[in-house]
Amino acid sequence: MNIKVEIDAGSGFCYGVIRAVEQAEHYLKFNSRLYSLGDIVHNSLELDRLKGKGLKILTAKDVRNLKNDVILIRAHGEPPETYRMARDNNLQIIDCTCPVVLKLQEKIRSTYLEIKEAEGQIVIFGKAGHAEVNGLVGQTDGTAIVIDGVRGLDLIDFERPIALFSQTTKDPVEYERTAAYMLERGKNVKVFNTICRQVASRHNSLVRFAESHSIVLFVSGKESSNGKVLYDLCKSVNPRSYWLENKDLIDPTWFKDGDFVGICGATSTPKWQLEEIKAKLSYIIF
Ligand code: SF4
Repeated sequence: MNIKVEIDAGSGFCYGVIRAVEQAEHYLKFNSRLYSLGDIVHNSLELDRLKGKGLKILTAKDVRNLKNDVILIRAHGEPPETYRMARDNNLQIIDCTCPVVLKLQEKIRSTYLEIKEAEGQIVIFGKAGHAEVNGLVGQTDGTAIVIDGVRGLDLIDFERPIALFSQTTKDPVEYERTAAYMLERGKNVKVFNTICRQVASRHNSLVRFAESHSIVLFVSGKESSNGKVLYDLCKSVNPRSYWLENKDLIDPTWFKDGDFVGICGATSTPKWQLEEIKAKLSYIIF
């Protein structure tokens, strides 16, 4: 088959994930084991690679039983409760909270304290239960309302002041739509533009990338919130977009003679995995 393949130059880990992975690897160069609170990255192959170096993933429940040790907090960040628990258990923290997330946490905290007296509501546009969202809700003593689109708006009292923030990896178009609706309904609604710039700029470039290829292989873990958003985006402009977690899931029947294949991924997809998919593709279809 005559097929051309290209990897999206803008794909690969975002700054926050690169920083967390580098810090974990640096620690593991001098130590045989490091505990991470939750998956450091939503990518099973990258996790396996790091586990091979001594990374151990703990749940929030496991961490409560851990004492006098070291834990890594991933780029998503954590609520204040986790830091309190770490202090109580004498845990040293390697804090890899992405600076963008940290700034958002601080802004939510200060806004919450400002509007609390006036019975204001903090609203977070994000995925309920997602680690980053849990960290954000924690800044409001658990009072923030989490919505995932216009569906959740019934939870909000539009007669009271509202401050709207977004999880950093949400779809900017959907956020804008939700914000516009809220501004129309409420008298006192303040909207903060808190989608990560790296994510927002990826949207336009990924649309162009997906449009300019006849078939798109989108690579990311199915757990990745950013992966779901970006894959949906590819699919919306190129119906021949396939979401796969690893090279073994490539199906040779997807391809036609003359195809121009585009390989891209989420902010949690390592570059080496995109290269691996390209190599496997050459082996299967050429
Ligand atoms: S997507 Fe943006 S905010 Fe989230 S970890 Fe990556 S760089 Fe940080």
